[in-house]
Amino acid sequence: MTTTSRKSVLVTGASRGIGAAVATRLAADGFAVAVNYAGSASAAQQVVDTIIAGGGAAIAVQGDVSSSADVLRMFDETENAFGGLDGVVNNAGIMVNETIADGTEQTYDRTFDINVRGVFLVLREAAKRMRNGGRIVNFSSSVIGLALPTYGLYSASKAAVDALTRVLSKELRGREITVNSIAPGPTATKLFLDGKTPEQIEHLAQLNPLGRLATPEDIANAVSFLMSPQGGWINGQVIRANGGMN
Ligand code: NAP
Repeated sequence: MTTTSRKSVLVTGASRGIGAAVATRLAADGFAVAVNYAGSASAAQQVVDTIIAGGGAAIAVQGDVSSSADVLRMFDETENAFGGLDGVVNNAGIMVNETIADGTEQTYDRTFDINVRGVFLVLREAAKRMRNGGRIVNFSSSVIGLALPTYGLYSASKAAVDALTRVLSKELRGREITVNSIAPGPTATKLFLDGKTPEQIEHLAQLNPLGRLATPEDIANAVSFLMSPQGGWINGQVIRANGGMN
């Protein structure tokens, strides 16, 4: 497999949902893709197999983004396979719905370990190791703007991601690397659908004037643009990809 002539990208949490759609789309765009997963090895391998069957280049890379040792290994494996790194999509994330009154410290720790510490650890490595001219896309959420009940810890973790995005975009001055957040609205994935009734899902789908949930591919299209040469003048921004749910 000759992968070194392609630009390369590491997509965290790419075994399913939005991450899998982003990995597949970026492979179709011409990137060699490192498909990261924490526990879902066979699902990640399926994403890799689909990419390779379509003529693309991909490897699966196990690692928990909240572990610095794992993150170092993920970057090593990606660089060894592809000869360098041109893009990072910080997609891995979790969501637990609890009111603040009922919130547990365990949920706080898990949410911030994966959604904030994980993003920080990946950004720290990306800032040191990415080639000049690259692209970083972090995952925020449009729910920050809605301030919906039960989304307190999740929204707080994503607000932290947006802060990291804006600061890093400035710290990388001189490297021609853009850093943006994408903030999806409700998107039909396990993270969103699990634990909701059909009525709750329909209610949330109707919050945008296009009247449906996003598909993972809708979000992957927006990431593809930010990762492309055409997206090069967008930097330090939070792009709310939500069908108009404002
Ligand atoms: P999902 O279907 O639950 O997929 C999450 C992915 O992250 C899985 O591949 C999972 O793989 C991986 N993952 C979880 N913990 C990890 C860890 N510690 N280290 C590495 N990988 C890990 O979620 P999704 O809906 O696609 O969400 C993707 C991103 O979009 C998240 O950051 C989420 O907050 C954000 N978002 C989603 C929505 C929505 O409505 N779906 C809206 C706004 C923002 P394993 O099974 O291998 O752990």
